[in-house]
Amino acid sequence: MQRSLLKKICCPFDKSDLSLTVFNEGANEEIYEGVFVCLTCNRYYPIIYSIPIMSPDEYREPQLELPILKRWGLSSNGQAGTFMLSEQSQHKLQG
Ligand SMILES: [Zn+2]
Repeated sequence: MQRSLLKKICCPFDKSDLSLTVFNEGANEEIYEGVFVCLTCNRYYPIIYSIPIMSPDEYREPQLELPILKRWGLSSNGQAGTFMLSEQSQHKLQG
């Protein structure tokens, strides 16, 4: 996704602002890999192959997302269907 689109993106659940951590970005300001975290509900939304995964919970597939989180050194909080990062991962993103 293009950086210029960031302003238009909010949490699909509560419409709150998201914080973004970018892992892989091209010279043309195209974000290939990164993760959004909602500042209100703490859900994470990965950007994979340049596509932000912003689906409602019931349409998400954790078994597809978790290996990618792991590659970035992140993990979920382990509760099925919550789509929140572990506390350790949240600290890591806050750097
Ligand atoms: Zn939210």
